Amino acid sequence: MSGRIAAMELGGTKTVVAVADADGVLCEEYRFPTTTPKETMNIAVSWWRARGEVARLGIASFGPLRVDPQAADFGTFLRTPKESWQGFSFASYFHNHLPGVPWFLDTDVQAALLAEMTYGAARGLSDVLYLTVGTGIGAGLACGGRLVHGTLHPEMGHWLVRRHADDSFVGLCPFHRDCWEGLASGPAMWQRWGAAAHTLPMDHPAWDMEAFYLAQGLYTACAMVSPQRLILGGGVSQATGLLDKVSMWMDRFSQGYFESLGARVVAPALGQQAGITGAIELALRGDKKLPS
Ligand code: ADP
Ligand code: ZN
Repeated sequence: MSGRIAAMELGGTKTVVAVADADGVLCEEYRFPTTTPKETMNIAVSWWRARGEVARLGIASFGPLRVDPQAADFGTFLRTPKESWQGFSFASYFHNHLPGVPWFLDTDVQAALLAEMTYGAARGLSDVLYLTVGTGIGAGLACGGRLVHGTLHPEMGHWLVRRHADDSFVGLCPFHRDCWEGLASGPAMWQRWGAAAHTLPMDHPAWDMEAFYLAQGLYTACAMVSPQRLILGGGVSQATGLLDKVSMWMDRFSQGYFESLGARVVAPALGQQAGITGAIELALRGDKKLPS
């Protein structure tokens, strides 16, 4: 393989673009706010072009998004609350603006998981869950060494959880109200407690409730696919002591039925770099998205 790799991590609020050499070693990156599709994509393409010819392209994006290359609408945004992106097609855009350049796409969380499995906290493992808890809740999943997509891609942020006995907050998911994301995302904490998550002291009851909710989803994932490791990423997960509380709640839910669930939860190793590293990795691996 030769030539430069261009990569993009498209987030709901910010975008990261990067160029890497043919071996996937990051050379330079640039961050800017995500606005409309046209403006955001034009900034990205101009930035890549100014750094030389692009040989391959990797995209890690927020969703929901059609990531199946066989689908007729591959690379198109589905029903996202970010309305200006709904219906936007990476396929049409790249066809017009970077014709002939092979491009590879996955969700931001699947890409972050791929990066953690290749270089980070889950190296050498085959069955891993990556959870990000920030403005929303998103999960990436690998089983048997393969990234799992199904007919769309995992959307665990929208699965349903049992309510905490002291919680009367209605939930803020625009589709389901009190799904996992609706009850446990950063903005949900803010609305429930009247203060941003990062300003709440660790002895505030918010954190035990947050751990109760996060542990439930992770516990359910363990019951379903039995991952070797669960990586807890995103802004909210950085709260001091939260990871230990989540581990404790998982073991409490388990009641001794599953072996050492709590011990499988770890912090990410790549931090903020996981998404863009994963986007580079997508381009590098092409159709072989198998962490080896
Ligand atoms: P995004 O989801 O937009 O990528 P983040 O993952 O940084 O952004 O998540 C933002 C959320 O994380 C906010 O609700 C913020 O209050 C919360 N947050 C950020 N840092 C911390 C921290 N150190 N402790 C607790 N919460 C945090
Ligand atoms: Zn929902």
